[in-house]
Amino acid sequence: MTKDFDHIVIGAGISGLGAAHFSARRGLRTLVLEAAPRVGGCMNTHAFQGLGGFWTEAGSHTCFNSYGNLLTIMDDLGLTAQVQAKAKTKVGYRLWANGKRRSIASALHFLEAAVSLPRIFSTPKAGQRVADYYGRILGRRNYRDLLSHAFKAVICQNADDYPAEALFRSKPRRKDVIKAFTFTQGLSVIPDAIAAEERLSVRTGQTISAIVADGDGFRVIIEGSGEVTCDALTLAVPPDAAARLIPAGFDGARDAAGAIGMAEIETLTLAFRATDLTLPAMAGLIAVDDQFYSAVSRDFLPDPTYRGFAFHFRPGVLSPQEQVAHACRALGVDPARIVAQGQVHNRLPAMRAGHAGVVERIDRATANSRLAITGNWFLGVSIEDSLTRSRQESDRLFGADPTRST
Ligand SMILES: Cc1cc2nc3c(=O)[nH]c(=O)nc-3n(C[C@H](O)[C@H](O)[C@H](O)COP(=O)(O)OP(=O)(O)OC[C@H]3O[C@@H](n4cnc5c(N)ncnc54)[C@H](O)[C@@H]3O)c2cc1C
Repeated sequence: MTKDFDHIVIGAGISGLGAAHFSARRGLRTLVLEAAPRVGGCMNTHAFQGLGGFWTEAGSHTCFNSYGNLLTIMDDLGLTAQVQAKAKTKVGYRLWANGKRRSIASALHFLEAAVSLPRIFSTPKAGQRVADYYGRILGRRNYRDLLSHAFKAVICQNADDYPAEALFRSKPRRKDVIKAFTFTQGLSVIPDAIAAEERLSVRTGQTISAIVADGDGFRVIIEGSGEVTCDALTLAVPPDAAARLIPAGFDGARDAAGAIGMAEIETLTLAFRATDLTLPAMAGLIAVDDQFYSAVSRDFLPDPTYRGFAFHFRPGVLSPQEQVAHACRALGVDPARIVAQGQVHNRLPAMRAGHAGVVERIDRATANSRLAITGNWFLGVSIEDSLTRSRQESDRLFGADPTRST
């Protein structure tokens, strides 16, 4: 029987939108179903109400010219020429420790780093915990006093047990693109442009009750709007949601996904008049044993009137009012000076060393099937790691894309 779609993708974060783009460009009838009212997931440019479009990034903030799969999508959509370089005067990160802003260098043990660094050539990364790998190549004290906090700031969770190979995977750079980039309107330009592709159907606000593997395809049952059928299905949702949705018959994949934890992050966005802040321009704060993991500023793309910040707090520690007071203390400004604020719930997977075994179990359970599973919980959490997985799964389902050379 003819199915409604050749390919259905569940989840409209960058992994799902990438998977949908890769199949749509092969000419396949593709539908994306997203639970939230907007697309983009962790790519979430937060525009403040009443500030003339001034925004700050509530999730991801930087893309690099090493993001090859992202760049091929941007090429397809005519976005590569629109990338925006970061501030000409480079703004750096600061530490927030014991109620004070400090330089990164203040926590670095230079001699220990110099003595340890040659070990990088003899220390394998694969299968190692972050604490063991980086503790060895930069020294235990450097890991304790600086790196552990920096990594925690990046993945918004304790990074000690995280798989070392999932952080900072090296990839070839594209010389024709600026090293680190964003867009004048923020990174949400990318998911929004994919979702707007004419050849794709995207439905937001969809609650999926169940997925049934049915003969040579799948039935996706959507609360309140019946069901849609497809030949091939891609799940691009966080691991806990995937474990709930993986259909019967793929039990190994369901069990493996269900065993992966999630880090919950309470993100607070704040905007101020630039003239109300004495704080020098900075990329953000790396917190040392604090109630927040990190704060990312909008100073990398300065605005003449406003400055914006996103504080990523540990969950359930401070009330919303306490978070505001704490963030303002770290910025050295009176909370009365806030001109706009917002709250966002972010989530990131909590992978553990040995994660390659989990991925193997999932891949074994889905091998030779028309079910693909992708996300930021396979190779790593970066946008490019997410898209690399989506691309691999797309090639498995539909064969190598004949129009692609990379
Ligand atoms: C604060 C923060 C800063 C970051 N900074 C960077 C950065 O600078 N550079 C970088 O490369 N990466 C960064 N990342 C990581 C990167 O943004 C994410 O890992 C990546 O965007 C994840 O994409 P995804 O599609 O795999 O998952 P998500 O973005 O989590 O998308 C999953 C989607 O599935 C939807 N969904 C969930 N359940 C269901 C369901 N049952 N049915 C339908 N839909 C469902 C969700 O609503 C969501 O839209 C950052 C992440 C965070 C949180």
